Amino acid sequence: MALDADTFDQLIDTVQRFVADRLRPAEAEVAETDAIPDRLVEEMKALGLFGLSIDPEYGGLGLNMVEECRVAIELGRTTPAMRSAFGTNVGIGSQGLVMSGTAEQKAHWLPRIASGEIITSFALTEPDVGSDSGAVKTRAVLDGNHGWRISGTKRYITNADKASLFTVMARTGEEGPRGVSAFLVPADTPGVRIGVPEKKMGQQGAHVCDVHFDNALVSNDNMLGPEGDGFKVAMRVLDRGRLHIAAVCVGVAERLIRDAVGYATERKQFGKAISEHQLIQAMIADSKTEALAARALVLQTAAQKDAGDNVTMEAAAAKLFASEMVGRVADRAVQIFGGAGYIADYGIERLYRDVRLFRIYEGTSQIQQLIIARETIKRGG
Ligand SMILES: Cc1cc2nc3c(=O)[nH]c(=O)nc-3n(C[C@H](O)[C@H](O)[C@H](O)COP(=O)(O)OP(=O)(O)OC[C@H]3O[C@@H](n4cnc5c(N)ncnc54)[C@H](O)[C@@H]3O)c2cc1C
Repeated sequence: MALDADTFDQLIDTVQRFVADRLRPAEAEVAETDAIPDRLVEEMKALGLFGLSIDPEYGGLGLNMVEECRVAIELGRTTPAMRSAFGTNVGIGSQGLVMSGTAEQKAHWLPRIASGEIITSFALTEPDVGSDSGAVKTRAVLDGNHGWRISGTKRYITNADKASLFTVMARTGEEGPRGVSAFLVPADTPGVRIGVPEKKMGQQGAHVCDVHFDNALVSNDNMLGPEGDGFKVAMRVLDRGRLHIAAVCVGVAERLIRDAVGYATERKQFGKAISEHQLIQAMIADSKTEALAARALVLQTAAQKDAGDNVTMEAAAAKLFASEMVGRVADRAVQIFGGAGYIADYGIERLYRDVRLFRIYEGTSQIQQLIIARETIKRGG
């Protein structure tokens, strides 16, 4: 479903103003305190940002993929930790439910996810299981008529310290991806324990923690999709998530280019603005070209997804290209700022650290390459 054009334009306009007037001025505060201020979280709720991708039937905005990507590009123009506050509710934390939930599961959880009343997290990665995500060791064992008992540890789970609900991939059967099932596990289930937030390279304000399950009992009704479908659920969620992340990369790149051009026009060396030196212009040109290419790839893939096409390959390509692109753009931005690029007050070094994550989570660049090659070979070229 799509919004009508006027309503969508208004949404983009509102998000642009929110990013410029409310989020950007708070970037240093968020980095220093490692927290998103409550006042901003409340404003995000009021704007409907927690429910961007959830159907209006459940109180969300029900954006299609093109619309979601265009909003994500706008949100990319501020520190990416801001987006993480509602990112799991929009993406990996809710989409398993949206795509595979029963009517009862959706009615029970989605309205509170869309409003931001509760936070959701996606728990796939484990201490010994990262890229090879079909090898999950967390186990769910049937306990008579009581339901499933889940035991194991999940690692690097975004927003785990705030989450009320986890989508957990656990092994219910044979070795390999076909033995994995997905479960909805409320955080207050006895036997669920959250670790302390990890210290990270960047994106301060967004937290990741271990989540431990010690015989945590959930009812049969908490299984998401059929038994043995958990890996498929996770991969479908990630197809969408990768496009969203690629869109955020485009937004960060566009912001960095704007900042770099602003600085290059002001800063004078050898008697003229550094933007007049052709070696600086080359960096601006390379960054702009790559950002435009990533934007086109993301929006075209999103349109294909909205048309019902299988975009597993294209979404992986968009995530690979956009996340590598924003790394190069951030590196050039540091270079254009010179010494100031390395100094915290200018905020460029912070974004340089922040964007490094995009090449790692929701599938590393190497895993995207494997998916692109596999799907391309499958399609015969
Ligand atoms: C800040 C942050 C937030 C995260 N949030 C979440 C979350 O909310 N939920 C969640 O479930 N997970 C989350 N993750 C986990 C993230 O998705 C994984 O870290 C990522 O998938 C890589 O897994 P790994 O760290 O175990 O690395 P590994 O899989 O051990 O990979 C190490 C290196 O080996 C390479 N490699 C692995 N296999 C191959 C191969 N077959 N061919 C070539 N190279 C290969 C990788 O590309 C990488 O370079 C998060 C991670 C971070 C850092």
